[in-house]
Amino acid sequence: MGNPHILVIPYPAQGHVIPLLELSQHLVKHGFKITFVNTEFNHKRVTNALTKKDDVGDHIHLVSIPDGLEAWEDRNDLGKLTEVGFRIMPKKLEELIEEINGSDDDNITCVIADESMGWALEVAEKMGIQRAVFWPASATLLALFFSVQKLIDDGIVDNNGTPTKHQMIKLSETMPAMNTAQFVWACIGDLSTQKIVFDVILRNNKALLLAEWVICNSSYDLEPGTFTLAPEILPIGPLLASSRLGKSAGYFWPEDSTCLQWLDQQPPCSVIYVAFGSFTVFDKTQFQELALGLELSNRPFLWVVRPDITSGTNDAYPEGFQERVSSQGLMVGWAPQQMVLSHPSIACFLSHCGWNSTMEGVSNGVPFLCWPYFADQFLNKTYICDIWKVGLGFDPAENGIIMREEIRNKMELLFGESEFKARALNLKEMAMNGVQEGGCSSKNFKNFIEWIKA
Ligand code: UDP
Repeated sequence: MGNPHILVIPYPAQGHVIPLLELSQHLVKHGFKITFVNTEFNHKRVTNALTKKDDVGDHIHLVSIPDGLEAWEDRNDLGKLTEVGFRIMPKKLEELIEEINGSDDDNITCVIADESMGWALEVAEKMGIQRAVFWPASATLLALFFSVQKLIDDGIVDNNGTPTKHQMIKLSETMPAMNTAQFVWACIGDLSTQKIVFDVILRNNKALLLAEWVICNSSYDLEPGTFTLAPEILPIGPLLASSRLGKSAGYFWPEDSTCLQWLDQQPPCSVIYVAFGSFTVFDKTQFQELALGLELSNRPFLWVVRPDITSGTNDAYPEGFQERVSSQGLMVGWAPQQMVLSHPSIACFLSHCGWNSTMEGVSNGVPFLCWPYFADQFLNKTYICDIWKVGLGFDPAENGIIMREEIRNKMELLFGESEFKARALNLKEMAMNGVQEGGCSSKNFKNFIEWIKA
């Protein structure tokens, strides 16, 4: 028999594909062979954006299955993906596994499914293949998902997941308080989308019982109360390309690595890195206010402006902005974020607080300016600002807009208070100790590998 062969299947979104591919690369280092299953739509994006084949190596086989949607349909529409995609994809996955197992290739011995793809565990169980779950967000969010039945029983949410009233609740005394209005399913789309998401959570909770392992991209020190409440969730993070001396891959957009040379020319600890992940969309007014806030800061900035970051307009910059800031800042379409955050010229991270971005900032000892938009980003901001105390949030004006002066003022506060950087460096040390030889995350990962090999 050759190398043990694992099939890895991420939820079809950027913040899931990157960490699952990172996990795959770590597994390859331990002698596993990986078949990595994207949707056809994302597979094309990932392979088009790869700078060279070496980014994933020979032991990861990138393959795809259809998601059942038409070419023109919106892949960010959770309702569509769930109703159409999750009906079509199980059969396609089964056919793929049958095809692999029927060829000369090594049979698939294990399926690692993204928690949000619970149906893949059902397929693996049906085919008699061992199963594990990977969770790419905070363990606290997963513990919240595990608690939804209790939230219904306690009358905190109704059967559709809608909060019965807006209040702060704690899942346990040692966990952060959560605002029920910001429960991840309660701040996504309209009521019918919220119901769809809530039902998927309930369904995934059931499917997850089919998995023997639940691993996540976090560490005991970052969310201690959660791991006490839900000890079945095992942290193996922070998962970083630098830990295996590699480069992160799986981007949906081609990276613009010229920003690294630009960073080389900036003074140490001076640059504000501004990035909002893969989903966030700005309206023109807010986009322009952010641009003017960065200009007003009078500090060097590197700003990721995805081609689709503004709604309905191609050129949303304030008039003359690009010329005025040409020696102050750099805008790129997509940055090699992990490399950017580890660059010595970075001083702070103005972030939407996606969990991957949060882990990447924490692992590099970078303080945050938090600008959460939706989903779990509010909860992650609570960790950053209130629990770890390594960042500050913004207060919108009465019109709901975060104004340029507010952006400048919070930057000044963060730069003026050296405690933020000191705490960020402590947190980095704590998190990185976990993944070093003998650390808790490292031990969990080793045990996980032994289980797959057994
Ligand atoms: N990212 C990147 N370059 C960019 C912006 C983002 O490589 O210019 C990566 C980032 O490092 C992270 C992922 O995209 O790994 C975004 O995931 P996150 O959970 O932070 O946010 P989401 O996109 O899911 O909202």
